[in-house]
Amino acid sequence: MFTQPLQNFINGQWQAASSTMVLDIVNPATQEVLGQVPLSSGSDVEKAARAAQEALPGWRRVPPGDRVQYLYRLKALLEQHREEVAQIITQECGKTLEEARGEMQRAIENVEVACGIPILMQGHISEDIARGVDELMLRQPVGVCAAITPFNFPGMIPFWFFPYAIACGNTYIIKPSERVPLTMQRVFQLIEAIELPKGVLNLVNGGKEAVDAILDHPAIRALSFVGSTQVARYIYSRATANGKRAQCQGGAKNPVVVLPDADIDMTTKIVADSAFGCAGQRCLAASLAITVGESRNQFSEAIAEAANQRVVGYGLDPQVQMGPVITPQSQARIRDLLAQGIAEGAHFLVDGRNAVIKGYEQGNFLRPTILDNIPEGGTIATTEIFGPALGLMHVNSLEEAIDLINKGKYGNQASLFTSSGSAARKFRYEVEAGNVGINIGVAAPIAYFPFSGWKDSFFGDLHGQAIDAVDFFTQKKVVVERWPKEWSRKF
Ligand code: NAD
Repeated sequence: MFTQPLQNFINGQWQAASSTMVLDIVNPATQEVLGQVPLSSGSDVEKAARAAQEALPGWRRVPPGDRVQYLYRLKALLEQHREEVAQIITQECGKTLEEARGEMQRAIENVEVACGIPILMQGHISEDIARGVDELMLRQPVGVCAAITPFNFPGMIPFWFFPYAIACGNTYIIKPSERVPLTMQRVFQLIEAIELPKGVLNLVNGGKEAVDAILDHPAIRALSFVGSTQVARYIYSRATANGKRAQCQGGAKNPVVVLPDADIDMTTKIVADSAFGCAGQRCLAASLAITVGESRNQFSEAIAEAANQRVVGYGLDPQVQMGPVITPQSQARIRDLLAQGIAEGAHFLVDGRNAVIKGYEQGNFLRPTILDNIPEGGTIATTEIFGPALGLMHVNSLEEAIDLINKGKYGNQASLFTSSGSAARKFRYEVEAGNVGINIGVAAPIAYFPFSGWKDSFFGDLHGQAIDAVDFFTQKKVVVERWPKEWSRKF
């Protein structure tokens, strides 16, 4: 696809990274090498940070209403090129084309919400806090901000942050996952076409070296991260130790609880989509199903059948419902975890470890897998597998299920399947998770809600998307004003 290593986009120009180190970008279904990504060095980050810093004074003076005009143009271009970008996502990331289209829709929705910045970033004023004295709260941009994003949503996740950041008057650097850099490469070609002032939005490709340079650069004032918990914790502590604002979204182990009064057909379909959609490589993928009382047998049978029926293959083939996992290493890691689960006493209801897809024998495929009787506190119950594997556990009451969930270290999402309003309310009220689904398997917040996450799934205070993003990307300035003549005038 690309004959030269990908370029960075810095100060309005495409340019080669200074580092000669590159990685292959590999289609996970075919092993075709799609291109090479440079592992940019600290000097590339330095260039991007300088460009962003120089662009800042001019950009923050552009009225918000004018700043969002660029976003309206970007939205139109994204809509026009949605199919093409979705195809790139499928090729480099492996998910089905339908899933990639949905991902780009979520990206576009964030641009739409950020177009509301002229109202969203308004401050407020109290007149006469004392006679003739007024107090104002203004929101001003934070400065240069950056995002470091994961492989599993290369088109959507940068959009949780940068549209809000630049609409608020900040300038920005994006460092996409080095495993899936083609999507942002194409998106930045569209960004180039909207003719933002130079340096407002910059793209730096790379891995750890680029990330560390971002973490340590004094001009970068705020950092958004999405990825695994281990890296999220590292990024949060290093960024905040360097005095930056940070919001770091981490990994997950998402439970779904099935009550006896749930509609089992609907529940099965939704849970299967959650567990096996995107080959289980979603931070909101269901990976633990907890059946309560009598729901056990019916749900176990139905979900096993759904797993067996799922059509696995290359995401560009229209009948395919589930693509490969991202790398052979990831495939091997998932197989190892499943073997560990068996060694700890679980058994396979469906064993998808040895998937061979005709025509794509080299791909990183697994089939949907279901493990039953997984022990509490064991590997399958506690580890983020990030593959198409669902563990089953059984309890006798909703209280027990909630207790089991709340003992877990993650808090990204928890779902309940029921037809009881009071059970739903109890679950919503008591469960320790940032995103909650009631008869929903992937409770992904729409762009005008924060993308939440608790416990080891999130480090920080303010989340991505919507008002939280506006708070994150602005700093509040409070002004107390007195105008002596006005104050002393007698009426
Ligand atoms: P990852 O942590 O390996 O990588 C994420 C980013 O961090 C990449 O840009 C990568 O270059 C960088 N990175 C990796 N290791 C680093 C290191 N040692 N030092 C500095 N930077 C480093 O994550 P991934 O495998 O790309 O993505 C999958 C993970 O992301 C899963 O754990 C998933 O749950 C999580 N995720 C979370 C959310 C959420 O909203 N909470 C959303 C999507 C994905």
